Amino acid sequence: MLTRPHPIHNESLQSYIYRLCRRNGWHYDAFKSHMSKLVAPLHSTKKNQRQSIVNYLQDKTKHENVAHLIDVWQLAGNYRSSLDMARVKVCTSCLKNSEAIPAYWYLKSYLVCGTHKQLMIDTCTNCDTQISHDSYIAMACKTCGLQLQDNESTKLQVDRFSGRVHNIFALINKDMASFESNLKGDIKAIESELSVLHSIVELLSKKSKHKRDNRRFSSIIDLYQKQLKCSQISENENVLRAALWSVIKELYEGGHYDIGYIITPIMPYLNDPGSQHIFDVLRDLVINPPEGTSELRVGVKWLEKLFGLEKGVLVFFAKTQLSDYLIKSQGSPNLLVSHVDYLINRFRLIKI
Ligand SMILES: [Zn+2]
Ligand SMILES: [Zn+2]
Repeated sequence: MLTRPHPIHNESLQSYIYRLCRRNGWHYDAFKSHMSKLVAPLHSTKKNQRQSIVNYLQDKTKHENVAHLIDVWQLAGNYRSSLDMARVKVCTSCLKNSEAIPAYWYLKSYLVCGTHKQLMIDTCTNCDTQISHDSYIAMACKTCGLQLQDNESTKLQVDRFSGRVHNIFALINKDMASFESNLKGDIKAIESELSVLHSIVELLSKKSKHKRDNRRFSSIIDLYQKQLKCSQISENENVLRAALWSVIKELYEGGHYDIGYIITPIMPYLNDPGSQHIFDVLRDLVINPPEGTSELRVGVKWLEKLFGLEKGVLVFFAKTQLSDYLIKSQGSPNLLVSHVDYLINRFRLIKI
């Protein structure tokens, strides 16, 4: 190893590898096959192989702090769904100040730089070529030669989720352990909230299936626009209420009288901290249903879950005390949403 750059502030191990290649004039694939032959596959997510790679780099560069750089590939072993490993997004204005690519730039929900309020890019704004590993090494587009930091910047509003990621990671230099604990906590909450909101937005636009697997083919601006829509719904209770309301109404008008149709896809997130405000509004809507939905119904089992009641208690109560209110049908008991308020109040009175 000829040149051994020092790790820099907030840099990920991947970023350090790019700079190592840059300083030594290596192509990424050459370095990758060198590492595979001598140490371990460069993109392995196995912990012992990651450790061998770090040890090797530490030994060859003689910089002890290489061991403290955040290794995104190791995190991808356990948190793949949170990270976008198919691309590296960068803020061109940040690159003007520092060559470092921080680990949090790999997070899927980070799409706008919180410092510069500009869209992250993963393609050349001049010729649309995907920015490759070798582009990062050269700091320039492989097709047209445009310097990375000279790409055109698109100024826009920081969405709620990019903003939160920025607040969590940009200001404090993290080590692996604290980065990982943020992934388990804050990032999980952000993702839960986004999943619920995506589901609402998709129902709003009458698309029934999640198409999140396609995200690697989506452009960052498309992802941002979806995320901004989710932000706008989530940040204002009235907008959130109106969005849920119009989902219910639209489905109702399309012949879906069972509110379970909306609740089913978001129910797995019921107890996640990031999504509580959304479920609060949903509960409120179930108790005070909008006008014009007189046939709207809900399963009593759903109500038990939604209101955090013990399994079976409300079904038993409804069957024994308020059976006239139950809709006669096969399967589990249903009632009109306009009767939910009465059922829940009666149930609570008796419990007290
Ligand atoms: Zn920036
Ligand atoms: Zn280009």
